[in-house]
Amino acid sequence: MPTTPLKTMVSETMKNCGAAAKLDDEGGLAVISPVTGETVAQLPEHSVAETHAAIARANEAFRKWRLIPAPRRGELVRLFAEELRKSKENLGRIVSIEAGKSPSEGQGEVQEMIDICDFAVGLSRQLYGLTIATERPGHRMMETWHPLGVVGIITAFNFPCAPWCWNAALALVCGDPVIWKPSEKTPLTALACQAVFERALARFGDDAPDGLSQVLVGGPSVGEALVESEKVALISATGSTRMGRIVGPKVAARFGKCILELGGNNAGIVCPSADMDMALRAIAFGAMGTAGQRCTTMRRLFVHESVYDQIVPALKKAYASVSVGNPLETQALVGPLIDKTAYDSMVTALAEAADLGGVVHGGEREQIGPDSAYYVRPAIVEMPAQTGPVTRETFAPILYVMKYSDLDDALEQHNDVGGGLSSAIFTTDLREMEIFLSAKGSDCGITNVNIGTSGAEIGGAFGGEKETGGGRESGSDAWRAYMRRATNTINYSTELPLAQGVTFDID
Ligand code: NAD
Repeated sequence: MPTTPLKTMVSETMKNCGAAAKLDDEGGLAVISPVTGETVAQLPEHSVAETHAAIARANEAFRKWRLIPAPRRGELVRLFAEELRKSKENLGRIVSIEAGKSPSEGQGEVQEMIDICDFAVGLSRQLYGLTIATERPGHRMMETWHPLGVVGIITAFNFPCAPWCWNAALALVCGDPVIWKPSEKTPLTALACQAVFERALARFGDDAPDGLSQVLVGGPSVGEALVESEKVALISATGSTRMGRIVGPKVAARFGKCILELGGNNAGIVCPSADMDMALRAIAFGAMGTAGQRCTTMRRLFVHESVYDQIVPALKKAYASVSVGNPLETQALVGPLIDKTAYDSMVTALAEAADLGGVVHGGEREQIGPDSAYYVRPAIVEMPAQTGPVTRETFAPILYVMKYSDLDDALEQHNDVGGGLSSAIFTTDLREMEIFLSAKGSDCGITNVNIGTSGAEIGGAFGGEKETGGGRESGSDAWRAYMRRATNTINYSTELPLAQGVTFDID
């Protein structure tokens, strides 16, 4: 491969992360940067046999790691957070190169890794069980939590590192080794993260066994080998609902545990009392940020008829003027789509929407850089009803806008799609807010008031319902998925009373 400025940037940045991997292995996996559409590296792929060997190594590591006290395990994650802080800029740049994010969003993703590490360090001293009242005299009942086993982490291209860390930081303090199968579109970020993790390992010392954290480069076949292995206790898979429909049943068939973090079709509702300026800014970031390639991207907007003519023209103006450009060379707010397939799916969805009476504003391709790069102007589409492409996730910056007159009707429509990830209401009316958050309100895993649908913090459990898969990871009590629970009853009396008053007297 001839050297280009972008390829030089890749090799220098990888080197700065400590990942001086061979980036030019002819015949391997081509890593294409969406920034220019050029191939920036050719990596060797792991085979299924190598995947099985990695699983065996991880299980060996589990036998040792599960016996290391949790606060000591937390120390490794603390060191990792220190190393991440040192590498924030370089890791952020690799994210920008591979996923096309702006520097601020690329580094924001690394910051999210640091945040979850800090959370996990505290958690390592708080893996609490319960003491439970028992009906039998002279007995004590309690719940204990133990390490679960090897965790297989499959991730999507659009968040190439933070979701790995949401899983890995918790898994490691919970006593579980991790095997990471990153998206085949973003393997460099994973290799760079692993190199940074290895720096923490070197400082940590001998308590950490070999094979505690491994990265497997490859496509679905490598993921499938993890999914099908009975030696992988938990599969945490982030990606499309299509992928989840394959992975979920396979893991269930072997009675494995699964966290599914799948697609969303997230919506906002703008009520008459909304702070319009705030709503405008929140919707703009939620719908256009990361070029519409976030699982939490706002894709549908229900606007009350009384404020429709106030907010929709302002949105159209923002869409027409937002800066689209190369994230490595400009301050543009909207970067490229990941590839031609993403562009084609956007074109198809917009044509379908127009056929159904939608009025499309924007959505044109912008000629930025070579032909192999796909930049688009975000599209806002005024729809007469929630039909056709509005009911599915198109992973591109399209916001469908619909008018409503009654909040109950808007809520019915809001919930009448497959995805159940994130949602938002813009209102200063207490009743409307509480209804949205209530049992008859949004049916999503994330329900926000006066902020957009994207940009979650690590402190809360992240995930969604229905076709989003039902998984939760990151904060709150998500750690429990990485441990097994045991209910213990201890008899310290001299009798053997049976529960429920049952008698069973033998001579
Ligand atoms: P994708 O489903 O194409 O790929 C995701 C990962 O799954 C990749 O690593 C891929 O190699 C792997 N994979 C694919 N088929 C597999 C199989 N049969 N067995 C095992 N592994 C398999 O998704 P993508 O295009 O990379 O990412 C975009 C999608 O991910 C969107 O739908 C988006 O909403 C979703 N996403 C969800 C979340 C969330 O937290 N809910 C976060 C980010 C992205």
